[in-house]
Amino acid sequence: MNRNKSKISILIVPHTQKVKRISIPSWFPKAALAVFSAITVSLTLYIKISLNYQANLIKEANEKLALINDLEEENRNKEQKLINLEAENRQLMKKTEEVENKLNEIDVLQRRLEKLAGIDSPSRGGAIDRSIEFDVSTPSEEMEIISEILSDKKLELEVFIEDVEAQFEYLKTVPDIMPASGRITSKFGNRRDPFTRRIQFHLGIDIANSSGTNIKAAAKGTVIFAGRNGGYGRTIIIDHGNGYKTLYAHNRELLVKKGEKVEKGQVIAKMGSSGRSTGVHLHFEIHKNNKPIDPLSVINN
Ligand SMILES: [Zn+2]
Repeated sequence: MNRNKSKISILIVPHTQKVKRISIPSWFPKAALAVFSAITVSLTLYIKISLNYQANLIKEANEKLALINDLEEENRNKEQKLINLEAENRQLMKKTEEVENKLNEIDVLQRRLEKLAGIDSPSRGGAIDRSIEFDVSTPSEEMEIISEILSDKKLELEVFIEDVEAQFEYLKTVPDIMPASGRITSKFGNRRDPFTRRIQFHLGIDIANSSGTNIKAAAKGTVIFAGRNGGYGRTIIIDHGNGYKTLYAHNRELLVKKGEKVEKGQVIAKMGSSGRSTGVHLHFEIHKNNKPIDPLSVINN
């Protein structure tokens, strides 16, 4: 190779022909090198960027795959949840139905109790209509309806219990128990007087037994008379309220005093034959609104 300042000469020497001479500018190799370097650097960069980009793509793809997996998992969970919810719903419906049945049973029981206690239905209405529309309402709506029905029922039962208690309180003041054990020797109404042999109205019933037999208050009340009372002998009169008064005559002994409060069935005297009496017996009267009535129409057997 031959060189001068501006040109580079390349001699090609073949073996068979004459020598050829090619001249190139002296800057050419440098320029070529620069271009080559630039291309190399560019290519390297390009490859690097490409690889990087590809890696990113793979990474992204993997992330997306993971996301898809997560979503699928979530979906499966949701499906499971849906299945569970459906099962819960069915359970709830069953419970609703059970509550409904129980409520109806309570209703039936209540009506029977009302009948037994002789109470006019306090539940206002009486007709049992508690059907819950299953297909139109959601479980929470059903539960709301049930809780409303239950609080209604609670109020109804509270009123019912109050009525039953009032009824029991009232029944305590009704003279409906036999005031003494023994044989009924004379009933209420017209009879021949044992002394005068004339027809006379008997204002009560006579119960005969041995002397000293317990005489019991026929109902709860207050003693308004306890003492001797002419032909009635040793007598007790009890005011029960509600228009009822009872009278117990011919006693041997009195065990309560005027003003004393007595309970139904409490022993208040001992059977005797005091006053105008033919033998040991209790003469028992019930007055309703100050009129004597047949005691056997009030007494429960
Ligand atoms: Zn009598």
